[in-house]
Amino acid sequence: MVINSKTSLQEVLEIIKKEGKTVGLVPTMGALHDGHLSLINFAYSHCDTIVVSIFVNPTQFNNASDLEKYPRNVSNDTEFLKQHNPKTIVFTPDVSDIYNDKVEAESFDFGSYVDFMEGEFRVGHFDGVGSVLKRLFDIVKPDKAFFGEKDFQQLMVVKKLVKITDQDVEIIGCPTSRNEFGLAQSSRNFRLTDSELKVAELIYRALSKAKKMFDNNSIKEIETEVENMFEDEPAFQLEYFSIVKEDDLIPTKTKEPKQNYRAFIAAFLGEVRLIDNMALNY
Ligand code: AMP
Repeated sequence: MVINSKTSLQEVLEIIKKEGKTVGLVPTMGALHDGHLSLINFAYSHCDTIVVSIFVNPTQFNNASDLEKYPRNVSNDTEFLKQHNPKTIVFTPDVSDIYNDKVEAESFDFGSYVDFMEGEFRVGHFDGVGSVLKRLFDIVKPDKAFFGEKDFQQLMVVKKLVKITDQDVEIIGCPTSRNEFGLAQSSRNFRLTDSELKVAELIYRALSKAKKMFDNNSIKEIETEVENMFEDEPAFQLEYFSIVKEDDLIPTKTKEPKQNYRAFIAAFLGEVRLIDNMALNY
């Protein structure tokens, strides 16, 4: 079922909730792929009814050309969902449904979660993410909402968002879905040629190398190794490689006992910016 207005969605959800069914929300920006599907299937193992929102959120793009070039194909997306999960409610609001007439991001205090990596290189991005999700949570009022670990920093930010805005929704993270060569599925992969897709596998190789080195090497040695791997591939331009403590997402130069660490990469392949991350010691 495809619903494009918030009032119609709320009418449908009211009936579902009265029947005692739980509602899960999977927010997306469309151009759906197997990664989204794994998230939706994961959501179905937790909730009776799943709403998948498709909305390319203008306030989270800090680069106008990236917003313009973001792949959009709602009819393909709805067909894709009809084939794989026909019971799913697809919500396709327009900009005014979400923002009324003021298309602007609110500002939130996400603390150290937004000081580095995506927060540093895409200034304002997470305020845009917080703004759209706060509104989507208000409209859908889901019991649970599902986010991919592919965007791990976003997952942490969303957990913080519901705390600071006091929203009654449980945030659940879902493992990253990858192709057979380890490349994380992403809507941005649609913009890559076949040969670029092969080159893009370097991100997974680099993260796996970092994980393998983690126990017996210093952070500096791991960073140098990964930077060298990217220098050897001229098609790629590494934006950052960071090893952070998972509880604060602050890059570290030392390893402490009983801490979880995670490595994050952002890199440009031509004009396409790809991100990925991996747990290093668990
Ligand atoms: P997007 O449409 O890119 O905004 O992504 C919507 C949701 O799908 C976010 O929670 C992403 O983290 C998640 N997602 C995107 N790609 C993957 C993937 N390869 N594996 C798991 N989740 C993903």
